[in-house]
Amino acid sequence: MRFVSHPGAVARGRSSTGAERLPARLGPELLRWFDRHRRPLPWRRDRDPYRIWVAETLLQQTRVAQAAPYFERFVARFPSVRTLARAREGEVLKSWEGAGYYARARRLRHAARIVVGEHGGRLPRTVEALEQLPGVGPYTARAIASLAFDRPVVALEANGLRVAARWVREQRPLASAGVRPRLERVLASVLPSGRPGSFNEAVMELGETVCRPRAPRCPVCPVAFACRARRELADPGAIPRSATRPPRPRVRAAVAVVVLGDRWLVQRRPPGGLLGGLWEFPGGRIETGEDPRDAARRELSEETGAKARRWRALGIVRHAYSHFSVELHVFRATDLQAPPRLGAARRWVTREELARLPIPRATQKIVERFAAGTGPDVTGARRPARPRARRRRPRGTPGA
Ligand code: SF4
Repeated sequence: MRFVSHPGAVARGRSSTGAERLPARLGPELLRWFDRHRRPLPWRRDRDPYRIWVAETLLQQTRVAQAAPYFERFVARFPSVRTLARAREGEVLKSWEGAGYYARARRLRHAARIVVGEHGGRLPRTVEALEQLPGVGPYTARAIASLAFDRPVVALEANGLRVAARWVREQRPLASAGVRPRLERVLASVLPSGRPGSFNEAVMELGETVCRPRAPRCPVCPVAFACRARRELADPGAIPRSATRPPRPRVRAAVAVVVLGDRWLVQRRPPGGLLGGLWEFPGGRIETGEDPRDAARRELSEETGAKARRWRALGIVRHAYSHFSVELHVFRATDLQAPPRLGAARRWVTREELARLPIPRATQKIVERFAAGTGPDVTGARRPARPRARRRRPRGTPGA
């Protein structure tokens, strides 16, 4: 195996606390550990660029343990860039369902069409060309280039950044200007030229399994000899310093589950934007001081033109997105006075038909809880009697 730095050399860089050095044997030691301890993740079975690309896209916002089943399902449905390029957007979103951040799936499909149309169905091999594809940012381009094409570039995601920051005792929050380029520069000087992709994976793997965000497992760390945080700090886990985050705003919204026989009214969100192209029940934000039931009535009427005589509170469903959380006040609406405007983006569906449409996780929660779960049933079907008497809930009180 060849290394960029010559044997015995050290990498030098500047830190906010002075000069630091990374021993040249860090690369080989880390790779030796990785070869013994790497987890058998589904995207590691081969070096297929398409599979690496799909995996890296999923891992942009999804943890490794959660990403594996989504990855398996997606590549089983779309085994090649050509099958993905040919697919309809709804099919792609359905296969992505549950993984969240659906813009990733839309961009992946868009990029697949470009790869087929402009690159003959083969992913470009350089960081610069990869970065031209929709959804491929600097990290993802570097990860694909090193993992699939052995390009000698450093790729640092959140785990890798944390590990590298501890190695060089970086004092600033990771998002601070100049921190990422500095860490990439220092790591580039110990990057094994023969196995750059494995080195990048090994750094991330170390961060996932040993050098964890809190309570790093330093006594079993294979590269503790290279770590300034371990040598110089009582608590290496104090690095990186966390940037102060504003509290996540909470949005209150009302949802109308309109029932007609055994069908529900659903509509597709506009393409682009949050959850674009997914299907959901009508509803929207509750204005300040507005009663949730009035908000559900108003939203249903404004969005669809429908009016219902009978409304019943089903309960509250909560869901957290990356930058805000929602509290959904869910109502069952029946006995229509005015029908909804129907069209390509709004229709009546049975539960089975809804299961075939791509829907957001929050809508899934509503269906699971009120149509198949333990809450009141949106279909109005009678549930089997419970063995013990239930306490009556006052009318109109949310049941969550
Ligand atoms: S010695 Fe500890 S802090 Fe340093 S890299 Fe290893 S696990 Fe992380």
